[in-house]
Amino acid sequence: MKYSMKSLVALIVLSIIFTTLIYGQHVFIVVIDGVRYSETFGSEGQYIPYMWNTLRPQGSIYTSFRNDGYTATISGHTAIMTGTWEKLINDGSERPASPTLFEYLRKQKALPEASCFLVSRKSKLDALTHSTHREYGSTYKASFTYGRHSDLQTWKKLVEAMNEHHPRLVMVTFAETDLNGHAGQWKDYLSALRQADSLVNLLWEKIQTDSVYKNSTTMFVTTDHGRHDDEHGGFQNHGDSCEGCRHIWLLAIGPDIKPNTRVSKTTYQVDLTPTIGQILGLKLPTLLGRSLIYVKK
Ligand SMILES: [Zn+2]
Ligand SMILES: [Zn+2]
Repeated sequence: MKYSMKSLVALIVLSIIFTTLIYGQHVFIVVIDGVRYSETFGSEGQYIPYMWNTLRPQGSIYTSFRNDGYTATISGHTAIMTGTWEKLINDGSERPASPTLFEYLRKQKALPEASCFLVSRKSKLDALTHSTHREYGSTYKASFTYGRHSDLQTWKKLVEAMNEHHPRLVMVTFAETDLNGHAGQWKDYLSALRQADSLVNLLWEKIQTDSVYKNSTTMFVTTDHGRHDDEHGGFQNHGDSCEGCRHIWLLAIGPDIKPNTRVSKTTYQVDLTPTIGQILGLKLPTLLGRSLIYVKK
């Protein structure tokens, strides 16, 4: 009986290794646009019940995570995807100068365009599909798809991309939080956050029921920037160096991430690039950030 149990465990381990070797590791980066620390971990999960109660015990939360660059949408996403702080025009007309993770992955692993997806509610995020770097650029760009009308439409586009292409690296941005914030609608900002929280949970459930993604996928949930704290104008806008804009949050969950862990050491958006590079087995140049996988509490 003991022996057969061991064989069963060995078989399961072998099948996980086999699946991982065939399909490799996968990474999903979920950005809930423009949400402060105070409405997420800072309020003990009041507005993010799925992430707080269901996902947090399975992963690590980073409670001193920061945007130390430009606290706007394009620059925040760029910090996550390139590991650099770049001040870029925020209307999508300017691309990052440093290569994105999409480009490193496609070039180094010789993968097709459909291996990388950027899915967003905001069309301007097309600027993040590739950089202007001469050794990378549009040859190695990610596929772009967007849900013009709502976060739910964005979710549908994400599901389609997953079902049709099983991309290796996905960045998805839910933007209704930011749009409702700019409109000055506090209740709508919070209800968009609750909806995004439930979509994050649905995504993690979908990953667990997909044989390609199960056991080989890491999910990061974060934001591109916060919003002003009450001393600097309140939740409606963002873009300066106040604590409300800089102090953000990160949830990580996956095979290499410690479960039920709270990391209070200061960490940064630019740490995500080397972290994801490590998970995907990429060789990256020396970057500002450090992989979060070895960060001590
Ligand atoms: Zn934003
Ligand atoms: Zn601010």
